[in-house]
Amino acid sequence: MSKQEFKSALKVQEGIAQPNQINPKFNYQRSRKPQLTAKEFVDGILKGDRVILSQAITLVESALPQHYVLSQEIIAACLPYSGNSIRIGITGVPGVGKSTFIEAFGKLLTSMKHKVAVLAIDPSSERSKGSILGDKTRMEELSIDPNAFIRPSPSAGSLGGVARKTRESIILCEAAGFDRIIVETVGVGQSETAVHSMVDFFLLLMLSGAGDELQGIKRGIMEMADAIVINKADGDNIQKANLAKTQYTSALHLFPPTSSKWKPVALTCSSYTKDGIDQVLSTISNYTDLTTKNGYFKQHRMEQAKYTLVEYIHKASLDLFYSNPRVVEKYKQIELDVVHGIKSPYIAGAELIQLFTDKK
Ligand code: GDP
Repeated sequence: MSKQEFKSALKVQEGIAQPNQINPKFNYQRSRKPQLTAKEFVDGILKGDRVILSQAITLVESALPQHYVLSQEIIAACLPYSGNSIRIGITGVPGVGKSTFIEAFGKLLTSMKHKVAVLAIDPSSERSKGSILGDKTRMEELSIDPNAFIRPSPSAGSLGGVARKTRESIILCEAAGFDRIIVETVGVGQSETAVHSMVDFFLLLMLSGAGDELQGIKRGIMEMADAIVINKADGDNIQKANLAKTQYTSALHLFPPTSSKWKPVALTCSSYTKDGIDQVLSTISNYTDLTTKNGYFKQHRMEQAKYTLVEYIHKASLDLFYSNPRVVEKYKQIELDVVHGIKSPYIAGAELIQLFTDKK
């Protein structure tokens, strides 16, 4: 049975001519929401319309070419209105208490009249069906706060793709008036570097009593941190948390000085009792005060923009090279020649580049 026949409720018997559906366009009209124009999207975002902001982020995350074109138009128009926020990256292994912390911290921010957007980077979320921010029970209070906007990690694609979508979502959220952007990531792999390259302040959540190995935190990630916050400092844990704070404070002293002139700090907090959450906030304020005064805040953002440009060019040019038909045609043979010592890798590489740049 064809799709059209199946849709008709009037179908009774094969071989007998049937009238068409009452209105053949009915399904079409019902399922098709009118697409907003780029201007309507931008106006809605600038007015702080969260539904339109959400729809625009969906476009950014979409793989459809027409959505890509529209989303880029929206981003370009929003760009002049972006940048007026403090972007805070939060990382830590699963279970360290990131979402509970963000809930407590986010509520503190909204109580101070800030508008908080929470975004996430979790390139594994496709496999794990959205391990990060995907669970509806997380951040229950913050998710219904009219001054907060929570968006789970875009699930599709490589880390680079997910990072790009998050970067572009930051622009849209800022244009919509969110002045505190929190980017959450799971502290187990490469994604911290991506988050670090898009935030002003990078916060590492840790637990007391668990060795660094156990927490899967590499030294490189600790070196990126502007603050290490030992979470779950409540009940029986308080003493251990204070001890860990002392240990991390001495460990942080051993790291080379940063170009921001900021000295990373170790703190304790409890997202349950809320003890120490306000200190995290004042630490971030101290950081932004210092780096705004010494020029680093602005310079850091410029460096991040340069980094993103270079990263994009590297990725895009590699994609162009490897998808070039002349390169594709000859690649395997040239690779074999290299493997068998017939051609030097340099000569072979130059040959491939020549094929790539050939105008013919
Ligand atoms: P995430 O995977 O890093 O986002 O961690 P969650 O926020 O989901 O928290 C993991 C577990 O730790 C949950 O059972 C929380 O209730 C618990 N937890 C989170 N924050 C605290 C805290 O400050 N104190 C205590 N005692 N438990 C906490």
